[in-house]
Amino acid sequence: MEYNYSSPKLTARTIREGMYGAFASQAIEAGELVAVWGGRVVQWEEYKSLPVIEQMHSIQVEEGLYLVTPGMGDTADLINHSCSPNCGLRGQIALVALRDIPAGEEVTFDYAMCDGSPYDEFDCDCGSIHCRGRVTGQDWRLPELWARYAGYFSPYLQRRIDQIRGS
Ligand SMILES: [Zn+2]
Repeated sequence: MEYNYSSPKLTARTIREGMYGAFASQAIEAGELVAVWGGRVVQWEEYKSLPVIEQMHSIQVEEGLYLVTPGMGDTADLINHSCSPNCGLRGQIALVALRDIPAGEEVTFDYAMCDGSPYDEFDCDCGSIHCRGRVTGQDWRLPELWARYAGYFSPYLQRRIDQIRGS
């Protein structure tokens, strides 16, 4: 059973041993829908007790709520983080291209667009000029990201940002 929608232009590829990614098998245009994640919405208490593979295939969608894709996942679950991503969120569960993506390029988004709690923190070696070195559940607080990802944060994070900005 597949829980996610993946664009037919996405393909799964091995980056290195044990590390997978989703790549454009053909050109994707700016604004194009790349993936929609599905699954089960769980609260923090349950999230913590899930198998690691399911914790990895998850996205925070609201305060205290996580969308988890059961099982081994599929191509949409292989989309990795980058500090210079080519995709962004549209709503809580959909991913769209931020710019034209040529065939062969890895499809990525910045986990700061969805992470508002410390459920998926790691050292980043994405190699981009914007690389933060460490990805945390607090990265959404960075004003430089508010500008760069305007319109592409998960709605619950956008509410937090608007509150901080006093708008
Ligand atoms: Zn990085």
